[in-house]
Amino acid sequence: MKYNITVIPGDGIGPEVTSAAVETLKEIGNKFGHTFNFEYSICGGAAYDKYGEPLPAESLEKCLKSDSVLLGAVGGPQYDSLPYEKRPERALLGVRKAMGLYANLRPAKLFDALANVCPLKNPKNIDMLVVRELIGGIYFGEKGIREGKFGREGYDVMAYGELEVERICRLAFELAQKRRGKVSSVDKANVLKTSGVWRKVVHDIHEDYPDVQLEDVLVDNMAMQLVRDPSQFDVIVTGNLFGDILSDLASQCVGSIGILPSASLNETTRGLYEPIHGSAPTIAGKNIANPIATILSASMMLRYAFDLKKEADALDAAVEKTLNDGARTADLAEEGKPVLGTREMTEAILKNL
Ligand code: NAD
Repeated sequence: MKYNITVIPGDGIGPEVTSAAVETLKEIGNKFGHTFNFEYSICGGAAYDKYGEPLPAESLEKCLKSDSVLLGAVGGPQYDSLPYEKRPERALLGVRKAMGLYANLRPAKLFDALANVCPLKNPKNIDMLVVRELIGGIYFGEKGIREGKFGREGYDVMAYGELEVERICRLAFELAQKRRGKVSSVDKANVLKTSGVWRKVVHDIHEDYPDVQLEDVLVDNMAMQLVRDPSQFDVIVTGNLFGDILSDLASQCVGSIGILPSASLNETTRGLYEPIHGSAPTIAGKNIANPIATILSASMMLRYAFDLKKEADALDAAVEKTLNDGARTADLAEEGKPVLGTREMTEAILKNL
């Protein structure tokens, strides 16, 4: 089969890690007889540098036309003082919105080989899936700066409509049915009106999924529970802001943000696949970044966008074998194990494919 993939390398470590993932996809293509065509799209800081805007129409068009999108990361300190509309992150939000990517799936599973890298004591059976609503909530609400009682004040409106909550919760329940049958819905219903609506809808929808266990967890308690005992969680469903923060926390529970992939999905099979980490500017261009999060994002693309299960399993197995062999990048460094660079880790994974 032939698949057209748009690659957005982005900024910082983005080009290094996407290039690693593209190599593994090419190898999967060779081994399993598929053709992956790669088209490159400039977005984020790189686009601002070249065109003066973070998401040029042509770059977005490429994303909308392809079978799927692979993204590295955008952003960097050199862009921090730009006006809001010109910031690299606008590209990210713009692509997500234009593609209607309402669901962001972030699996966090502890590889046996990384038990010693995990900062928790005696970690075991950590295997959770954070399902984050991606195109609503406070990131997309009305925002601005105005004169207030205490001087100039910034404001960001957090709102969720019933239909937005319903579609993300249905997905979470369906995913739980294919896993261990438990959904933990995270909100702040003791304080926020938004969360009150969220909680009511989750419980209404739950009636259609009696085989799934549902629990409500306040976001502050969730932060604590994730550190205390993450093995208690299966599917965690939450809004945009809480999901952003909690999935970074979940990533550290399994060793490093450098190994966590994600899939952003809409109602079609055309999604966007990206590591959960950012552009890590301090390690960019030094052959230090861990490519595993982006390689596993490519594996999610094979699985969700193209329904290539065997191929995705092969790529996941190659990553696991490489870690079992003792290969480590700097973020996973362990005494007695040599530290590999981005390229060397990619080569080790390719060898195990
Ligand atoms: P970050 O994820 O880039 O980095 C956090 C920490 O993790 C840093 O210590 C970094 O060195 C490390 N790290 C991240 N990825 C790694 C990898 N693959 N291998 C090894 N170590 C890795 O988050 P940040 O520092 O808060 O943000 C840096 C920039 O990235 C900012 O401009 C931010 O806006 C942007 N950002 C972009 C995205 C995205 O494009 N999806 C997401 C988050 C942050």
